[in-house]
Amino acid sequence: MNHGITPNEWERHLNGTLTTTEQERIDAHLIGCLPCWDFYQRMMTLNAKLQEAGEMKRDAFALSDERLRAGLLNVFTRIHNAETDEPATPLQTRLNELEAVMSVFCGEQAAVNAMQAAAAHSPAKSLKQITHENWEPFLQRLIAIAQVLCGRTGARWLLESGRL
Ligand SMILES: [Zn+2]
Repeated sequence: MNHGITPNEWERHLNGTLTTTEQERIDAHLIGCLPCWDFYQRMMTLNAKLQEAGEMKRDAFALSDERLRAGLLNVFTRIHNAETDEPATPLQTRLNELEAVMSVFCGEQAAVNAMQAAAAHSPAKSLKQITHENWEPFLQRLIAIAQVLCGRTGARWLLESGRL
């Protein structure tokens, strides 16, 4: 999916700093495009959570709010714009989001490895076999790994993003 909206435009849309012309073009697209509308809603929610989290103490993290937000937006936009024929299932979307949040805190490769390890050591056994029923033990496992890899703030973020 590539809908002609760049990460930078998404970010400025969330910040309310688009020009009137840009704003009109993107709003017109959002109204008619369900994937982008969903994406926009999720980003709004995450953005609000980020602002709340900004008030928490960021233990080991030197990431500023702006860098954190920019990092998340970048990863999410990449997922959103990924060329794929099949639309992601809601569960797949959640997994992508968890991976994206974790990537921001501890790097992409570590995030991928952690996701696989958490699945392998939970009742799901693999990422492909995760369902609503075995989601919770998988998430708990992932958070335990995240506390080691990403610190408390990263783990807390995962918990926020991982609630079904
Ligand atoms: Zn779209």
